[in-house]
Amino acid sequence: MTSLARETQPERQPDGNSQSSAKQSSADRYSRQVLFRGIGAEGQRKLAAARVAIVGCGATGSALAGLLARAGVGTLRIIDRDYVEPSNLQRQSLFDEADAADSLPKAIAAARKIAAFNSQIVIEPKVDDLVPANIEALLEGMELILDGTDNFETRYLINDYAVDRSRPWIYSAAVGSYGLTLNVVPAQTACLACIFPDSPRGMVETCETSGILNSAVNLVASIAATEALKLLVGGDAETHMRRTLLSFDVWTNEHSEISAAKPRPDCRACGERDFIHLAGEGRPHITLCGRNSVQIHERQRPINFAEMDVRLQPHGVVRHNDFVLKFWHDPYEMTLFPDGRAIIKGTTDTAVARSLYARYVGS
Ligand SMILES: [Zn+2]
Repeated sequence: MTSLARETQPERQPDGNSQSSAKQSSADRYSRQVLFRGIGAEGQRKLAAARVAIVGCGATGSALAGLLARAGVGTLRIIDRDYVEPSNLQRQSLFDEADAADSLPKAIAAARKIAAFNSQIVIEPKVDDLVPANIEALLEGMELILDGTDNFETRYLINDYAVDRSRPWIYSAAVGSYGLTLNVVPAQTACLACIFPDSPRGMVETCETSGILNSAVNLVASIAATEALKLLVGGDAETHMRRTLLSFDVWTNEHSEISAAKPRPDCRACGERDFIHLAGEGRPHITLCGRNSVQIHERQRPINFAEMDVRLQPHGVVRHNDFVLKFWHDPYEMTLFPDGRAIIKGTTDTAVARSLYARYVGS
């Protein structure tokens, strides 16, 4: 973890000359996209003015963010709670080995990577877990929300918020060799709860249990990113948006579409406007988050990393940078974020995680 020191390096700051030359190259940069009739010069201007949130920046989120950033979407807000690990690199296209060695938060690593290939757009990285208490602040001012999450809990939360605020969002998911995607335009199309009234119960396939092909991710992200462009460009482009839940298996080539053309009248969310996920009813403050790990997000305790580093030294190995503090206490690995949130790796027992947190961080 010695390479954590890399984080003290200053951000890339383009000088005046490179900024003006960047402006001159703007027309050039998007020329092939402007030539495409569905976008054109007017469409490109709309993309430059657009504000899009990407919730979750793992595999799908990376691919979505990379495509939309290169396409010139003017503002991308990237929200992610996690940090980069070596097992991400097979499919999470915005990260590299140095990011994994540094345990860099994915939102920060994504923003840096995008700035290196498009410095003309605004990237707003948010290292945070999207929950009912912060969804308003995190999604405020965003005209479109893209799903790069890996769990139904957050997707239902996004769906409630989007339907309540009449904000479009695009559901995307990939596991194993297949991907799924659905455009949700409130009051026009079906919402997520119209199609899946309840989140799947029992054993659910995840990337941890079923693995994942990077090509399945990129397929679903390509389709979702294109739908996003149509929506942002508007007018005739918008009429080409798909109104189905599409699923495609890149291994077997099986694919299907389920109509999502109309809202379901008795839908809890868009019919009855009962936003149970937005209300946060019964939401646990400590959750499993895959990879043999548990997240504790009930705390709002700003952490001074320098002080915490000294306090934890006698109990294990400690390293920190500006963004995360890592504490190895065999067999556990705790990653602390500045707001007090923690991911504890090495257990799926929430009681064990809670007790570790209480013992070393505070109860
Ligand atoms: Zn609905």
